[in-house]
This record gives sequence, structure tokens and C-alpha cells, in this order.
Amino acid sequence: MTTLSFLGAAGTVTGSRHLLTTGSRRILVDCGMFQGLKALRLRNRDPFPFDPASLDAVVLTHAHLDHSGLLPVLVKGGYTGPIYCTEPTERLVRILLADSGHLQEEDARYANKKGFSRHRPAQPLYTEAEARRVGDQLRAVPLGARTEIDGATLTFTMGGHILGAASVHLRTDGGSIVFSGDIGRPDDLLIPAPEPPPAADFVVMESTYGGREHPLLDPESALAMVLKRTVRRGGVLMVPSFAVGRAQLVLYVLWRLFSSGALPKVPVFLNSPMAIDVTDLYLEFPDYHRLSTEKVAEAFAIAEYTRSVDDSKELNHRGGPMVLIAGAGMLSGGRITHHLAAFAPDHRNTVLLTGYQAAGTRGASLLGGARHLKIHGRSVPIRCEVAKLDGLSAHADQSDPGRSGSSTASRSKRMPSGMRRSGDSGRGSGSPRTGARSSWSSAPVRESGERRGMAPDARHQGRNQAPPPPRVGRSPTVEEGRRRAALRRSRRRCRGLRDPSHRRRRWRSSSISSRSSMPPRHPWKAIGTRCARCWAARAPTWLT
Ligand SMILES: [Zn+2]
Repeated sequence: MTTLSFLGAAGTVTGSRHLLTTGSRRILVDCGMFQGLKALRLRNRDPFPFDPASLDAVVLTHAHLDHSGLLPVLVKGGYTGPIYCTEPTERLVRILLADSGHLQEEDARYANKKGFSRHRPAQPLYTEAEARRVGDQLRAVPLGARTEIDGATLTFTMGGHILGAASVHLRTDGGSIVFSGDIGRPDDLLIPAPEPPPAADFVVMESTYGGREHPLLDPESALAMVLKRTVRRGGVLMVPSFAVGRAQLVLYVLWRLFSSGALPKVPVFLNSPMAIDVTDLYLEFPDYHRLSTEKVAEAFAIAEYTRSVDDSKELNHRGGPMVLIAGAGMLSGGRITHHLAAFAPDHRNTVLLTGYQAAGTRGASLLGGARHLKIHGRSVPIRCEVAKLDGLSAHADQSDPGRSGSSTASRSKRMPSGMRRSGDSGRGSGSPRTGARSSWSSAPVRESGERRGMAPDARHQGRNQAPPPPRVGRSPTVEEGRRRAALRRSRRRCRGLRDPSHRRRRWRSSSISSRSSMPPRHPWKAIGTRCARCWAARAPTWLT
């Protein structure tokens, strides 16, 4: 009997944990942290619904904390076995977990000092020393290599999400299963497109953007527009950035803008020791990204790297124009919050959010139009411009080929040996409760959790039979091509502006939202004009 338990990332998009039990063997795929709303974060304090010492192996899809952040708790709880991952993931996990432990200690210390925590004393989930202990159990496995782990054969394939991200293929006595991990985009500027994993009986696929499509925006021109505006005001562009992937992507886009002459060079500071360490890994693992080593060195040299706390504080006394890239990406902590406290009250400055902002975070509050933010126990007025840059997401959307069953080698089907799934720990809305078991035999099963579900070709029966043709006549790639062609046509029309039917009009977009405190009676100011016809065609803005 093989069972699969969804212990997180069900009903929400964080806290990824899947327990695969085959006979007496137990393999945990990912051990992520819940992030976002406090109710979710509190779940990190819950004991595991299994004995950590009873696990035989842990497999990681990638290093993001919502997939790896509770490993120190697992090790603290008695797990002594190996943790398998790719080579870059092994290095990234060491960096991320140490930083996570350090931040939690800092936050607990600060909360105890200022007395703004309801817990007395406030305790970190784990310390930096406990996080570093996880490193002894990490085992790096190359992409594509078949590795015998306890009771299963493991193969990693390129996930395309961040450096080292992989899909996990496990073959056990009971059959085979693919855990997609977070699926990347096919046209990411830095990371290669996801590769189809080997054929499998079951696919567990993340679907963070499974029901949505990314806006057809050119992030490069959108970033140029925001930076140009801020520089004109002599302001500081603050970019709260995730240390893995996003910071490097922003640096790369800035390098392209500066080197092409589209923007005059302004000082750029990467004020995040963790992001600096991660940036160095791009030089070490050229097989896991698209750039040559020379290009990586040149592109990432545009920023001045700020490691020490003193240098970081010094930046708050420096005037604009300049770009500050610092963590955390959702403003939940880190050095960016100090910059925000210093620069947000000035209307000349801009805070540019570059990724998903989970509910309950300061980033989400800013997007919601907050006029004040509580930072380090005090209320900080927000008078700066708040902008959001979409189009940099590292998650494949609904129509990206990486999410399409037709683009994978998987031949998912029912598992004849009676593989069963057991429920999530039961708090997420719509999630099955612990112990509530239902048989796979009712396939196709569309899981209720947001990130779960079988691949579209899961209905296909028979291991060696060709998959059925896709229901839609055109493949997502063709659709994407048509949309891009329409976009190019509308851009051409727009640039001319000779056609009188193309009129400029003031616009406001949820994709690039801008808010300024000047004048105070108009808190939501349109940030430009654009052609009404092309706007309807969802063309990116041509106004700078
Ligand atoms: Zn991720």
C-alpha cells in the first residue's frame, strides 16, 4: 500500500510538504514554512503530524523557504537521515536557512527589547545555529542522474523556477510519481525553461498561477519608466527583493537598460548579504542558467555590494538618485524595512514591489493604499510613490508550456497497486482533514488545494499508449505566439500616433499602480497616458 499525504500547500500556496509512504518506507518531499497571514504563520509552530525520526529520506524540489524553511525544526525533532537536492539547491538552502534562523533570532530579540510581542519572551522558531546543523544532512544530486535512495529511485529534472529548482521523479515498488515543485516560465531571462520529467503514474503539480495568466507587460520598459520618473525627482528607488532570483533578475534588467543607453547610469546598491552570496552562485553554476560566466560577471558588477550593517545604515543618509535593492521581498523584515522607514515619508522616493505580496504583509498593505505602516514598533507615514512591477514572476502561468500536460513526458494514470492519498492537516479551506482517506481509484482527481492536482493528461490510461490529443485545437505555444503577434502589431500602430483614432488618455492600471502623496487630495494618481486602442489590446505602455 502506498499513500500520499498533503501536509501543506493545500488551501494556501505555502508550507509545501508531501509525505509518501510505501510499506514501511517514508519519504518527505519538501519541508516548507507557512508564510503570509499570521494564522498561517502560527501553523509553523504546530508539531509535525508524523514522527520526524521515522522518516527514511527527505527530498527538496528547490530552496525557497516555503519548500525548505522547516528543515531545522525537522532536524531538531529527531530527523537524522539524508536530505536530497540539486547542487545549487544544496548551496542555496545553507544560505537561506542560516539567514532565516538569524532573522528569527533578531526579530525575537527586537520584540523582547521593545515589548511589542504578545509572547513573553518571544521565541524564535529556530536559531541560526540550529539552521546550520541542517547542512550536515544535505546530499547534492546532479540533474538527470538516477539515484537510489531508501526504498525509491530518485531523478531530478530542470524545474526552471529558480537556480537549482527541479521536478522530482520517484519510482517506488508501488509505482512512480512526479512532484513538479514550483514550475518556472519558458521565457525567463535568466533561468532555462522547465524540462519534461520522465513518464510517471502520477503527477503532483503546483498551480500557484494555474488559473491565471501573467500580464503581457514588458518588465524592462516598465522598470525604466518607474526609474526615470524617480530619477527626475531626485529620489531613491527602493526595490524590496527576494534574495534568490528576483534580486539577480532586477540587476540583469538594470544592466541591460544601462548598457543599451535606455537609461543614464545611476548608483545601484545591492544591500543584502544573502542576495550577494546567491549572486556569486550564478558564477559557480553556469549550467543552471542562461547567461555566460562573462555576462554574469559584467551584469552583476553594476551594483555596489553592501555587506556590513554600518554601510547599510550609511545608505539612509545618502541622497538620491539611486537604486536600493534589499530584502525582504514582501517587506516582512530585513534591511529594506530600515530604508522604508527612512525614505517612505519623502514624496520624491519610490518603493517598487517586484513580486507577489502575500496577504498580511507590509507589501500587501502598501498595495492596498496604506498611508501608514508599522515598522519596528512605530508608525511610519507613507508619502512616497508605490509602484508594482509585474512580469517578473518565476511561476509558470495557465498557458505556459511547462504547466501543460502535452509538453511533458509524463503519462500519468491510476496506480494499480492501490496508491492512496491522505489528507492535509486540515485547516485550509477546502482541504481534506487528517486521516480522511480516499482512493486514487476515483481518478481523475482534481485536488481541492490550490497547488495540488493531477496533470491534464492524468485521465490517460495505459503506460505505453500515446496521450490523447489536447482538447483545445491550438497548443499554448501557438496561442502565446498569436498574442505576442497582436501585441507587436498594436505596438507598431501605437508608435506612429498618426492615426487619429489613437488618442492618448489618462490611465490607471492594476499592473503598474502608482500612488503619490502629491497632491494629497488625489491619492491615486494616473501615472501617464496611453493609447486607448492599444490599452484595450493590453499592450505594454510606450510612454516613458
Ligand atoms: Zn518557489
